[in-house]
Amino acid sequence: MRRIGFIGLGAMGNPMARNLLKAGYPLTVYDLVPARIQALVSAGARAASGPADVAVGSEVIITMLPNSPEVREVTVGAGGLVHHMKPGTVVIDMSTIEPRVVQEIAGILAQVGCLLLDAPVSRGVRGAEQGTLSIMVGGDRATFDDCQDVLRAMGTDLFYIGGSGMGQVAKLVNNTMAMVNVVVMAEAMVMGVKSGADPEVLFRVVTHSSGDSYALRDKLPHILSGRFQAGFTVDLAYKDLDLASRHGSHLRVPMAVTAVARELYGFARAEGDGDLDCRAVIRVLERAASAQVRSRG
Ligand code: NAD
Repeated sequence: MRRIGFIGLGAMGNPMARNLLKAGYPLTVYDLVPARIQALVSAGARAASGPADVAVGSEVIITMLPNSPEVREVTVGAGGLVHHMKPGTVVIDMSTIEPRVVQEIAGILAQVGCLLLDAPVSRGVRGAEQGTLSIMVGGDRATFDDCQDVLRAMGTDLFYIGGSGMGQVAKLVNNTMAMVNVVVMAEAMVMGVKSGADPEVLFRVVTHSSGDSYALRDKLPHILSGRFQAGFTVDLAYKDLDLASRHGSHLRVPMAVTAVARELYGFARAEGDGDLDCRAVIRVLERAASAQVRSRG
């Protein structure tokens, strides 16, 4: 089986790396936080001292990092993978980053005969733990086909979208819809509850009517019982809507609703709720309206 390197062992990377080990892949791991490396070594991985050490001896290298600057640094920065990889090595970046940065990095890796797939994911930490991620892939089609076995160790639904950066485009389309839906669901619920309606009744009504959404079904039951622990955080929702707004701006696509939703998550961050689940955006609206959406039971 191909030797795999894995960089970025956080909330998502840790369980994804574990699933690669369970599937039998020899795995070399690196993170800025030594304890995160150690946790994977206990599960059977080899520790690396940095990106260079990962590059030497890995045929496929997966990155699962916070955002564009970190991916750029690890792949093509001063001590980055590009200076140490053998020609033919495939880098699969599974982080959510700017599509244009993917294309920039792919161009630099191509100069040393290496390939980049962008393969961002959906379904969160639970999907990462269960190996049921949805994975949206951009880059060379033949390289995608060649890497399907590796991706299937982490996800059940693989989508080839198109050329370099197109996986990120699909991810931004998905997350823009998902995160804007959470805001409008929250706003409408605050309005309904301040009018005197029972939120449980509103939940039943809307799940049987045309306003039904994943945001409503997945988020409202937790809001009703006052549970706001992450989940997909306010910080990540802000980040993804910011990426979508920038991408739209670059393409001259107005993203008016996206920008408003991003700023509402911005208020939630400013009020100290960045680490909570994105459904905590409702607290901004509740404070503004002096109303609370809570179960009456
Ligand atoms: P995280 O912050 O938990 O993990 C990121 C890891 O990268 C950390 O362990 C950090 O120490 C490490 N890191 C940062 N800079 C590094 C560097 N230069 N070298 C080595 N390691 C470095 O983030 P996460 O929640 O695991 O998310 C990772 C990516 O996946 C993000 O792009 C995020 O948008 C995306 N994502 C997250 C979720 C989710 O539910 N958490 C869902 C889908 C997609």
